[in-house]
Amino acid sequence: MAKPDYYEILGVSRNASNEELKSAFRTLARKYHPDVNKEADAEEKFKEINEAYAVLSDPEKRRIYDQYGSEGLNGMGGVPDWTNIDFSDIFGEFFGFGAGGARQRQNAPRRGADLSYAVTLTFEEAIFGVEKEIDVTRDEVCSTCNGSGAEPGTTPTRCPTCGGKGEVRQVRQTFLGSMVQVTTCPTCNGRGEIINTPCHTCKGRGLERKTIKKTVSIPGGVDNGNQVRLAGEGQPGVNGGPHGNLYIEIRVKQHKFFRRKGNDILLDLNINVAQATLGADIEVPTLEGPAKLTIPSGTQPGKVFTLRGKGSPILHSGGRGDELVIINVEVPTKLTPEQRKLFEEMAATLGTEVRPQEKSFMDKLKEVLGG
Ligand SMILES: [Zn+2]
Ligand SMILES: [Zn+2]
Repeated sequence: MAKPDYYEILGVSRNASNEELKSAFRTLARKYHPDVNKEADAEEKFKEINEAYAVLSDPEKRRIYDQYGSEGLNGMGGVPDWTNIDFSDIFGEFFGFGAGGARQRQNAPRRGADLSYAVTLTFEEAIFGVEKEIDVTRDEVCSTCNGSGAEPGTTPTRCPTCGGKGEVRQVRQTFLGSMVQVTTCPTCNGRGEIINTPCHTCKGRGLERKTIKKTVSIPGGVDNGNQVRLAGEGQPGVNGGPHGNLYIEIRVKQHKFFRRKGNDILLDLNINVAQATLGADIEVPTLEGPAKLTIPSGTQPGKVFTLRGKGSPILHSGGRGDELVIINVEVPTKLTPEQRKLFEEMAATLGTEVRPQEKSFMDKLKEVLGG
């Protein structure tokens, strides 16, 4: 029987470039991969595609094939050794299927899944850092069977089908010589051993679900949405693979009067008309207690004073942000008769002139705070 033409198999012209070959191969391999395509002839087709690509993507083999056809390759003394080629590797190489490929050997080590938990902190805890204890539910090695999955007193037996290798090799004779196809052992699903009496605690899984207390050290300076990563504290790996990570997502409660803007802390402060007009030495709250602030005479609403280094610590650096004090001038709504008299006297000296303001209060504030 005549071999189908490699170019026809890949649906490309005889002068197709390497890029065209690769692209055609990818499309077809995806379509006919036996894990994806369940049609009866998909596997046969998939092998053809691989074979065609393996030859045409190699310039030397392609040259021989173009000149002499597949017999040329056959007759070549140095026909490449196909026995060691595992088609799943070819496939994996093109699709980066290392982790998700169904063709991956099932007993290969795999990293455990990541876990994610949220903790809610007070404003101060986020600024200064805190240790939090959280409950983490994850799989742990089963304490009854120590992870073997076999009931204590019994031992798993070596899988008779694969002899403990977890995979089976099928040798097929093809025109290129014998070809080995490696598949996961169907008897043991790749484990290499068979558990005759599964552990009663974990039902043979080797793992049991446990809730453990974990103390998390949260560094000062974290903010809403930050994550703290605890390497290796996630789900255990499979077949000796490493643990996944545990991620702690930070949520921060609102403070009664402080707000956060990056590493700076904002405080809205009300002063009275006299303080704004005449100036005053006042005390303002900071995260570390009251601090002195001098209000110069003639301070306008929206004026921002900076208390250097009174903000949040900057994560992973020694520095600190600032506290920004935003001034609001309170206009009195209730006056004693005496205050009223004083304001009336002052009003008489101020006249009645008004003038438009070039920039609004909000615009000024935005300028200072950067939006
Ligand atoms: Zn167990
Ligand atoms: Zn087996």
